[in-house]
Amino acid sequence: MKRRDILKGISILPLGGAVSVLPFTARASSKARKRDLYKELGVRTFINAAGTYTFMTGSLMHDYVIDAIESSWQEFCLLDELQDKVGQKIAAMVHSEAAVITAGAFSGLTLGLAGVLTGTDVEKVKQLPFLEGTGMKSEVICQNAHKIDYNHALTNTGCKMVYVDTVEDVEKAVNEKTALMHFLNIEADKGKIGHEEWVALGKKYNVPTSNDIAADVPPVSNLTRFNDMGFDFVVVSGGKAIRGPQSAGLLMGKKKIIDGARLHMPPRGYNIGRGMKVNKEEIVGMYVALEHFMTADHDAEFKVWEEQIATIENAVKPVNGVSTKVFVPKLGNITPTLEVSWDKSVIKLTSKELLEKLRNGTPSIEVMPREENSINITVWVMKRGQEKIVAKKLKEALT
Ligand SMILES: *Cc1c(COP(=O)(O)O)cnc(C)c1O
Repeated sequence: MKRRDILKGISILPLGGAVSVLPFTARASSKARKRDLYKELGVRTFINAAGTYTFMTGSLMHDYVIDAIESSWQEFCLLDELQDKVGQKIAAMVHSEAAVITAGAFSGLTLGLAGVLTGTDVEKVKQLPFLEGTGMKSEVICQNAHKIDYNHALTNTGCKMVYVDTVEDVEKAVNEKTALMHFLNIEADKGKIGHEEWVALGKKYNVPTSNDIAADVPPVSNLTRFNDMGFDFVVVSGGKAIRGPQSAGLLMGKKKIIDGARLHMPPRGYNIGRGMKVNKEEIVGMYVALEHFMTADHDAEFKVWEEQIATIENAVKPVNGVSTKVFVPKLGNITPTLEVSWDKSVIKLTSKELLEKLRNGTPSIEVMPREENSINITVWVMKRGQEKIVAKKLKEALT
């Protein structure tokens, strides 16, 4: 850039008074933080007693994630170098050969499969999602019990899904076009074929296996368990229980696959993954979130959740017509969950009406409807102390 151009650039800065040459200073940031943008925009905020739902913006980032973002936003670095170095650290933490921060678990699925299909052949990378006539494989085998909307991430590569039920079905379905055998952890108990058998079948037929564990931490052991088990790639969400950036996730797996997946990601743009950009702040934020998550005292945190749930349960249980139950899902969203149900002849309220009441209260509260006369409550994405407000408001609404 010529000096003249630089000066031209400067001339677009506002004149007069104390002009800051660098507009992106820490001072500007703390000033920006004083603005209540939700209020300015008229966007409703609420206590999230429902859970890690994307439409409710998932989870709240930990303060150390924000610190990581603040530590990184004022310097440039090479995107690939950052992904390389963060990836190496994470791979060692999760027992995989390689790892990369993706734009959520969903993009991890697309990119992981893309990596399987193309390896590091750039000419192949450019052809996705048009696989026909390329010699690339084009089918993904998955159990019917593991059929969910998110499998669309896999078909984004151009592959088609082949759904099966039994081991015999798998053996019939495997052919020279089979690219991947995909597993969905949250429904592991629904399918006829379990994790280990799935991996063994993959190995038997020389087909890579993948596992979607997006919402399956805690337990923290799941971050290493499926890599140890031999899945070729595994994806997890960064913006659920890990409480990293909501738009981040982690793809971990065999080096060959991750190296291939990287070619489908920014900074490159000749691929299907250019729109799955993760910025440097999210990358370091996700890295730190994971680091903390893997070393946190999850038993202590679980006890806090149980206490918070008990506060809400104890408040609503005495209400005439109300019954409560606390359970912990065995797979996925493994957190104490309070089911509040009521006798419709005593409390003339549908769950939809209750939701509206809580939503329109001050502060606004979101819970999950269950049946016509029941709701679910979790506390794991709430701030400490908010359970008392939820307890009071829920009791009032049911009385
Ligand atoms: C949440 C979820 C996803 C999507 O994860 P993102 O991180 O939001 O991309 C995929 N699969 C399952 C099973 C999920 O629960």
